Amino acid sequence: MFSPMFRRAGIFFGCIAALMLGAHTPAHTQDNDYPMLPFIHDVLPENIADFNQGDDGELIIKELRRGNPYLKEVALTFDDGPHPLYTARLLSILRYYRLPATFFLVGVQAERYPEWVQMIHQEGHEIGCHTYDHFRLVNLPLDEQIYQIEEFSNLICDITGKRPRLLRPPGGRYNQFTVELMNRNGMALGLWTINSNDTAPDCEQHAMYRRVLEEVQPGSIILMHDGSEATIEMLPRLIETLQRRGYSFVTMSQMMAHANSDVLNGHKVNGSDEWKVISY
Ligand SMILES: [Zn+2]
Repeated sequence: MFSPMFRRAGIFFGCIAALMLGAHTPAHTQDNDYPMLPFIHDVLPENIADFNQGDDGELIIKELRRGNPYLKEVALTFDDGPHPLYTARLLSILRYYRLPATFFLVGVQAERYPEWVQMIHQEGHEIGCHTYDHFRLVNLPLDEQIYQIEEFSNLICDITGKRPRLLRPPGGRYNQFTVELMNRNGMALGLWTINSNDTAPDCEQHAMYRRVLEEVQPGSIILMHDGSEATIEMLPRLIETLQRRGYSFVTMSQMMAHANSDVLNGHKVNGSDEWKVISY
């Protein structure tokens, strides 16, 4: 690979190029296909969160696609809210069963319905970032990604007093700019294990219920949407079945904390199996 000197030079010229090119970022076609984009340390303030800093100062991020496989817990996650009609219904189901969930909100929706953002927060659920406008981040230049992530954080912080620590990029797609921004905002990637496909036009609650139950395992993160009628209809039955099977329900941050444990339930858990750590 390149020597540190060449790498620094590359970073320097890369930054100049990034500044000159301004709003151009190549689009990418594959998940986890990280392009050789310029590093942007030098054009960003130095407020990188400690937990994202590697031992030798390398840039790392954490990505959670599933939790601890030895722990019988699942994370219910709801994207795209808050929704003027569905959020109340979702919250009342979660309140009834006394379960925490994780809501990956969209900024424009949060701006329109701040009272629901506050409700979600007050009822003990976790709020994650699903961008400001629900844009695919891989298609956006750096300055727009800054807006999509940091304006969202500012808005949620204004409403709840708390900054989101998780990012779920729409489509699960991101690039190196996103990684840099997650790093300076102390964010981890919150992806999913099971996609309920509850926004598909032909989604039907019974089929979705069966499919999710077939796939569910200890540590599963279930992706659903705040705005899906089928999800509202299915959710009580799914929760009751999972409870009967001995599952407990956690937020994604709780799941991350558990995934990181060295020893759990008598099993040795190799953290690196559960975490995907991407270093630059
Ligand atoms: Zn979405």
